[in-house]
Amino acid sequence: MKEFRDDAFVLRTYKSGEADRVVVLYTKEHGKVRVLAKGARKPSSRLGATLETLGAVRVDVVKSRGAFYVARHVQHLDALRTLRSSYARISAGYAVVEVVDAIPAEETADEAIFELLARVLATLNDERFHPELVPASFYLRLLALDGSAPVLDECVLCGSPGPLVAFDAVAGGALCASDRRGIALSHDALTLLQRITGGDLAGVLSETDAPGTGEVMALTQEAIENHFGRRLRAPRATAPVTPLLDH
Ligand SMILES: [Zn+2]
Repeated sequence: MKEFRDDAFVLRTYKSGEADRVVVLYTKEHGKVRVLAKGARKPSSRLGATLETLGAVRVDVVKSRGAFYVARHVQHLDALRTLRSSYARISAGYAVVEVVDAIPAEETADEAIFELLARVLATLNDERFHPELVPASFYLRLLALDGSAPVLDECVLCGSPGPLVAFDAVAGGALCASDRRGIALSHDALTLLQRITGGDLAGVLSETDAPGTGEVMALTQEAIENHFGRRLRAPRATAPVTPLLDH
């Protein structure tokens, strides 16, 4: 019988049996684990109240005879009140945890991903920062951690410094006019991407409606979906994506 205590974020939950809930956690030292929270759907359940999606918790779990761990004790590490006060912040948080849940790594610790997730949720919980571009910045950091950061300072195919006019997730970055494919990339969106990846993330997140925001949301989502080879369930970015019809 294996048991452990760990800090974790709740990626999602789903119903199990009559009154139980399965909780998918991203833990600091054990990676992604599935935990059965017995009786969590009863209105009086303290476990149920604590183990909500986006929760930051400390859990004591024990391995049962089946495949699951069973939650023994759970406490909130941070109520994330500002995050939970706004639909836009919650929705950005869901987009982030959905991608973490898509990482194919059951019970493999990755402290870099845990720390990144902690920073992202803290940013969403900070009223100085707007939430819209938080998922985009998270996707870019996650790609970089995986060694797949998109090339944004030169054409990914020929190395030309530009002008860069298109972005293609499969090619892996921005493209010059002669190599253009994928989706059109405005100068505003390129500048925004370069600021996010070049150390000015706090500046970008402090601004409202920076030019190019919709484009950056859409193309980073495409890049992360291409990386994991699946569509995300989170609402699609609403930006007008301009296909390059002349290619
Ligand atoms: Zn080129």
